[in-house]
Amino acid sequence: MERVLITGAAGFLGSHLCDRFLKEGFDVIGMDNLITGDLKNIEHLFPSEHFTFYNHDVSNFIHIPGKLDYIVHFASPASPIDYLKIPIQTLKVGSLGTHNCLGLAREKNARIIVASTSEVYGDPLVHPQTESYWGHVNPVGPRGVYDEAKRFQEAITMAYHTYHGVETRIVRIFNTYGPRMRLNDGRVLPAFIGQAIRGEDLTVFGDGSQTRSFCYVDDLVEGIYRLLLSDYAQPVNVGNPDEITILDFAKEIIKLTGTDQKIVYNPLPTDDPKQRRPDITLAQSLLGWEPKVHRSEGLKITYDYFKSLTTEELNKVEHKNFDKYSH
Ligand code: UDP
Repeated sequence: MERVLITGAAGFLGSHLCDRFLKEGFDVIGMDNLITGDLKNIEHLFPSEHFTFYNHDVSNFIHIPGKLDYIVHFASPASPIDYLKIPIQTLKVGSLGTHNCLGLAREKNARIIVASTSEVYGDPLVHPQTESYWGHVNPVGPRGVYDEAKRFQEAITMAYHTYHGVETRIVRIFNTYGPRMRLNDGRVLPAFIGQAIRGEDLTVFGDGSQTRSFCYVDDLVEGIYRLLLSDYAQPVNVGNPDEITILDFAKEIIKLTGTDQKIVYNPLPTDDPKQRRPDITLAQSLLGWEPKVHRSEGLKITYDYFKSLTTEELNKVEHKNFDKYSH
């Protein structure tokens, strides 16, 4: 049986990846320090004899007894609100955490895939974004801690590939949504759905003309799985090119939830990218992959998930206690 280590296992994407690898017949070791992840996302996996969980911060040395075939490195805060609150941990997990994962991959002779992001393109001057674009990032702005950590992550991953011959893969993930997103992490989709369910106005930042392109989680996981099994070490965009303005997105959520909430306009955060859409030509030709789930379908599944949460969960402002974690 092949063995895979998934870091960030209790997070939104990590937990879906655990599900997928178990379904594919792997022995899965999930690792998370639970700073932004939640055990609730993986509690259904604990009865499985093929699932083991380690509560560990990958920014510290990682020890895994026995063999490892694959490492799927997804540990990182991933919402702008989170990296404003925990900037040092965000920098550390992208740099030191990735270094530790690469060292482990080298030691175990395992193939590793690292989660990069469309944020490496910053506020892009090229649209849609192709893998050959180097980006437009403000290193000292509020997003710099995430963007630069992920850019360093790509650099060190390529270095381990080139100098140590480690089998590496880099996936550049664009905005993704689905069940198990954290309701109050500030990201736009849970923010809007939470507001609609609670009967609050929807908060559009700026004039809402900025665009994003949202990918349903199952499509993303399929792309990641195929990339891991491919033999391509350069970065690959995985995302849904179906682009929408944030204002139109707010209107879609109002229609979906059947509420008559108003839209209110709040200031645009610093360095908020004006437009974002992946060019997925490479993923299409290399992996035979493209997204299958239309936004109307994916949003409905996600809305049903959020509706199933308890009133207490829906009204919690933020259940995460970042203070107990050291920098
Ligand atoms: N946004 C918004 N209202 C909110 C939360 C976010 O209008 O309540 C906007 C945000 O300014 C950005 C977009 O939605 O332009 C996507 O934000 P998110 O934090 O989800 O992710 P990003 O793509 O910026 O990393």
